[in-house]
Amino acid sequence: MNEVKTPRKPMLYYILVVLLVLLTLNFLAVPFAKKQTIKEVSYSKFMDMTEAKQIDEVTIKDNKISFTKKGSNTIYQTGQMDDEGLVDRLHDSGATFTEDVDETMSPFLSFLLTWIIPIAIFWGLGVYMRRRMMNQNGGANSMMFGMGRSNAKVYVKSAEGIRFDDVAGEDEAKESLTEIVEYLHDPGKYKSIGAKMPKGILLVGPPGTGKTMMAKAVAGEANVPFFSISGSEFVEMFVGMGASKVRDLFKQAKEKAPCIVFIDEIDAIGKKRDGRFSANDEREQTLNQLLTEMDGFEDNTGVIILAATNRPESLDPALTRPGRFDRRVPVELPDLAGREAILKVHAKDVRIKEGVDFRKIARMASGASGAELANIINEAALRAVRDGRHEADQADLEESIETVIAGYQKKNAILTDKEKRTVAYHEVGHALVAALQSHSAPVQKITIIPRTSGALGYTMQVEQDNHYLYTKEEMLDQIATLTGGRAAEEIMFGTISTGASNDIQKATQTARAMITQYGMSDAFDMVALETQQNQYLGGDTTSTCSAETQREVDQQVTEIVRGQHEKAKRLLGENLPKLHRIAEYLYQKETITGEEFMDLLEEKE
Ligand code: ADP
Ligand code: ZN
Repeated sequence: MNEVKTPRKPMLYYILVVLLVLLTLNFLAVPFAKKQTIKEVSYSKFMDMTEAKQIDEVTIKDNKISFTKKGSNTIYQTGQMDDEGLVDRLHDSGATFTEDVDETMSPFLSFLLTWIIPIAIFWGLGVYMRRRMMNQNGGANSMMFGMGRSNAKVYVKSAEGIRFDDVAGEDEAKESLTEIVEYLHDPGKYKSIGAKMPKGILLVGPPGTGKTMMAKAVAGEANVPFFSISGSEFVEMFVGMGASKVRDLFKQAKEKAPCIVFIDEIDAIGKKRDGRFSANDEREQTLNQLLTEMDGFEDNTGVIILAATNRPESLDPALTRPGRFDRRVPVELPDLAGREAILKVHAKDVRIKEGVDFRKIARMASGASGAELANIINEAALRAVRDGRHEADQADLEESIETVIAGYQKKNAILTDKEKRTVAYHEVGHALVAALQSHSAPVQKITIIPRTSGALGYTMQVEQDNHYLYTKEEMLDQIATLTGGRAAEEIMFGTISTGASNDIQKATQTARAMITQYGMSDAFDMVALETQQNQYLGGDTTSTCSAETQREVDQQVTEIVRGQHEKAKRLLGENLPKLHRIAEYLYQKETITGEEFMDLLEEKE
């Protein structure tokens, strides 16, 4: 282990620090102590108290009357009024006049607060620090301020009280974790039969699907301590720190067993070690330490390690072999029912109008993760507050889906009239092509209000139900819909704009996937030409075919997209009056709903 030394600081430095701390405390403590004992009262209260003969000592100074009440230490204060007989009345009531009511605390107390206590605190701190340093075992650990200690947070008892019920949907994941909960409740039951619980469980899935939440829920259900640390926290600036943190974490955990140790983003330390020159020694050391620790503790110690990652394929095989993280629990993006359930769970935390159609919101938010859905609810509540309402309604929720997907409305974006018309035709082009084909999802909304994400407008299509399988026809229709925007521009203005770049990307991706991953071309049949790299993070692909094949793939991709583009132009050409009518309407209104769109579409010319 590499030794890291902190440079010694000169004595003067410490003296300065002590002085500074004392001074600060002095300033803080005095006004604080004073304030506590002075009470402002109204003049009429003062008069009442005088009448009731309750005043003990009184002093009048700087337009203020300070006085004490008989049998109490509190100093009262009130402003001085133009009150002629006051002095006589006070005298009659038996009050004594003094030079000065003692506003400050007793000198002893003041001395204690401003000098003795701070010094004692500082001295105690020093002793504590020295003891900690001595407790640590050699090497990099013996640094000042115990930087080598693990920062694993301990949530003794249940983790923020999160239970399985708080995690909506994800029934399969919950089911496979229930066994762990039962084990943590009663490890003896498993021990007696000789069954071993897996030491490590890997939660895999896209970001924001509730993996952290699920781990907390396991701890919550089992009512055991929850240690949590992120993989990236292990890899810090000092070599050797990561490994010592791992050691520390496991030491703490074993003391608190049964318990859950949660390692978020485990890929930060658990990446495949390749033979190539090592870019990160520190990470490797940390990983080795983790493996050693996992092998080190016997089965059934009651320490269960949960780890989360969204790139399971990049993990080192040593980490996933039996005896380590050998169980894998997928935590996937929620389906329609799951989205509805998550919305409802989070809707409990905000005030939402009676009768909101969560199913519809869930349908519109297709592909959204749990975290995004939680965000949608929150955005809706914020929007209601902004409008000065007391509860969020359907419109708030629908608008906030768009906010989460496409960013806020850009209120002051200034499009020229020509640009606005172009965007209107472009969007109606998409919508019309979608509606004129038989395999497209219905149009839910079209808008040409620019968004902060840079989108100048968009057309929202919403599937009625869950959709897991796509046929070749559906994919082709999708591509045609994507080209519909550009096609409308061409037909209407005889020229093309940069507005279609996103469409082009998506159309190309779809067409390429059809050929290289889904075996939908005649030429290549069912041969995989690409492999997916990280399915949970955008799904990058790498090509596995020869350069010649790639060239042919490119040709076929072009052919598919061109064919669909032609089809889109033909469909729009045959329905020109509709295109004009709906685009002009959209241009005027800026946002139209799916129903309005369908009404316009079916209107007779
Ligand atoms: P991950 O660890 O998978 O990236 P988190 O567990 O941090 O995701 O989830 C982020 C937030 O998203 C949670 O705090 C929660 O508010 C919300 N969330 C995600 N999935 C769900 C779910 N299934 N049910 C309820 N809330 C969820
Ligand atoms: Zn477009």
